[in-house]
Amino acid sequence: MSSIKQNIEQVISQIGLAAEKCGRPVDSVQLLAVSKTKPIAAIEEAIAAGQRAFGENYVQEGVEKIQHFSDSENAAALSWHFIGPIQSNKTRPIAEHFDWVHSVDRAKIARRLSEQRPADMAPLNVLLQVNTSGEATKSGLAFAELAALADEVAAMPNLVLRGLMSIPEKADDYDSQLAAFQSLADAMQTLKTLHPQMDTLSMGMSGDLDAAVAAGSTIVRIGTAIFGARDYGEKTSQ
Ligand SMILES: *Cc1c(COP(=O)(O)O)cnc(C)c1O
Repeated sequence: MSSIKQNIEQVISQIGLAAEKCGRPVDSVQLLAVSKTKPIAAIEEAIAAGQRAFGENYVQEGVEKIQHFSDSENAAALSWHFIGPIQSNKTRPIAEHFDWVHSVDRAKIARRLSEQRPADMAPLNVLLQVNTSGEATKSGLAFAELAALADEVAAMPNLVLRGLMSIPEKADDYDSQLAAFQSLADAMQTLKTLHPQMDTLSMGMSGDLDAAVAAGSTIVRIGTAIFGARDYGEKTSQ
């Protein structure tokens, strides 16, 4: 069985190859290790292997992990990204503990995060989650709603609008994957004329990393390929 350290090395080399193939610097793509449902020990192993950025989907579980590592020697170097769906009654612990949120898709959530961000913390880095596939079931806002929300979020005092995120509909062929990611990259290019500080595209998972990097991804979110399959047995809600 391969170790978490070996898995991380493997994923990093895959990211490196994808970047090289399209002439991008290897360090222009950050690996976000998605540790949802995984124990503290697994995160410790990843940290020992040099991993510093972690993604969590469930508020309480994520906060417990952040608190656990807050006294560790690497605490200042770690960054914690909330990437799951957000209920409006769960915004406070997100605002009080996380460094990044990838899944903001409405003004009400953004407003609460800004209001609840403690004054002694750096502003919360925010990505707007866009539904690039137009499916009714997936979360994320439509392209048509994006500019208005970007303007609102950019004006909120305790948030920094950093970019966009999407989880496209699963596609096996490279061209459809690329088209979905390219549509997100194009949207950011347009928004950047008004919001030049936007610099982050969170797109790409294990199965579509190459296309995501080719389209300009700056953060790829990888869980299973690092930590192995997840067991949702006891998880009932966030
Ligand atoms: C779980 C999750 C991932 C990681 O998925 P894997 O298939 O385990 O790599 C990435 N992004 C989001 C938003 C997720 O919820």
